[in-house]
Amino acid sequence: MVRETGYYDLLGVSPTASPDEIKKAYRKLALKYHPDKNPNEGERFKLISQAYEVLSDAKKRDLYDQGGEQAIKEGGVGGASSPMDIFNMFFGGGGQMHRERRGKNVVHQISVTLEEMYNGATRKLGLQKNVICDKCDGYGGKKGTLEKCSTCKGRGVQIRVQQLGPGMIQQTQSMCSDCQGQGEKFSSKDRCKNCNGHKVERKKKIMEVHIDKGMKDGQKITFHGEGDQEPGLEPGDVIIVLDQKTHPVFQRQGENLVMKMKLKLVEALCGFRKTIQTLDNRMLIITSESGEVIKHNDIKYVQNEGMPLYKEPFEKGQLLIHFQVEFPEKHWLPQHLMYQLERLLPPREDVMITDEMEEVELCEANEEAEQQRYNREAYEEDEEGPRHGVQCQTQ
Ligand SMILES: [Zn+2]
Ligand SMILES: [Zn+2]
Repeated sequence: MVRETGYYDLLGVSPTASPDEIKKAYRKLALKYHPDKNPNEGERFKLISQAYEVLSDAKKRDLYDQGGEQAIKEGGVGGASSPMDIFNMFFGGGGQMHRERRGKNVVHQISVTLEEMYNGATRKLGLQKNVICDKCDGYGGKKGTLEKCSTCKGRGVQIRVQQLGPGMIQQTQSMCSDCQGQGEKFSSKDRCKNCNGHKVERKKKIMEVHIDKGMKDGQKITFHGEGDQEPGLEPGDVIIVLDQKTHPVFQRQGENLVMKMKLKLVEALCGFRKTIQTLDNRMLIITSESGEVIKHNDIKYVQNEGMPLYKEPFEKGQLLIHFQVEFPEKHWLPQHLMYQLERLLPPREDVMITDEMEEVELCEANEEAEQQRYNREAYEEDEEGPRHGVQCQTQ
C-alpha cells in the first residue's frame, strides 16, 4: 500500500500510474521548469527530477511506496544524479564524455495532432539562437587589438577592500564587469560594431521538422549541431520532442487505435450499420449482421486501420472498437407490452423461495460515491476494519 504520495503529487500522477504515464508527466514538467525556460523555478525543477529519479526505477519506487521519502534517504539511493544529468539522460543529451568541448543541447517540445502522426507532416519552427558573428569571425573586434583590461589589470576579477573598523578589513572579489572576466578587451574603436564584442549574435533560424508517419508521443527529432554557437566549442544539438494532443475519437495504444462506439440496445441485439471517419478522412462502414449479438464492453477490431508503423508506413495496426451498449430508460415500455417482450427474450430462471430466506430492499448505488468511500477506507489504518452496511439513501 502506498503510504506517501509526495513524489506522485509533484509529477501530478496517481500512485497507480504506469511507467509511461510517469515518463510523460516528467517530460512535460521538466521542459516547463527547466532553468533555461523558467529561471526562477530551480527548486521546483530539482524536486521534479528527484521524484522522477525514484519513480522511474521499479526498485526505488517500491521502496518509496513502502517507506516513503524516509526509506529513500536511509537506503542511500536518492539524489544520486544532478537534475541536469537526469534531464540530459532523458532527452538524449549525448554522453558526458565530450560535454566540455560541446555547447549544451536545447530541447523544445511541439504539440502534434494524431492526424499529423498518421499522415505525416512538416512543421516550420522559428528558433532564436546564438551564431558566431560573421563580421569579426567570433573574435569580437579587430584582430590584434585586444588589450589588457585596465580596470582589473588583466586578472578578470575586481577586488574591493573595505575598512570595517580599526584594523579590520573585508575583501570582496567579483567578476570584472568591464571585460566580463576575460582580462582582455577591445577599446571602443576596435570593438566589433556588429556583435558589440560579444563574439556571437542572436539570429532567428527557421527549422523544418518532418513528422514521419507513425511517429509517437515523446519521440525526439534531433538536429545535430544546431544549438547555440560559441567560439571554440562544438555546438550542441537542438532536440524537438513531439507531444501528442489528445484526440476526441481515437486513443493510441502502440500501433493500434482504440475508439469507443455507443450502440442502442436494438443495434446490439438486431444488428447495425455504422460509419467511422478515419484520420485521413476516409469513411469506413462497419456492419453487424442481424442475429449477431454485441454485448456491453465487447471489443472488435478492423484489420489494418490502426496507426501506420514508423519507417514502414504501409503496414498498419488494428482499429479496436470498444462497444458501449446503451440500455433504455426506466419504464420505456408500457407494462402490457413488457409481457410480449419477455416472450421474445431468452427465458429467465425462477428461484425457489423458502421460509428461511430473508427479503431485503434493493437500493440504487451511486458508483462515484462508493468509489470515494472505498478509497478513503483503503487509506485509513486497518484497525477499524472496513465498515459494512451501506444504508439506502432516500432520494
Ligand atoms: Zn577587466
Ligand atoms: Zn562581431
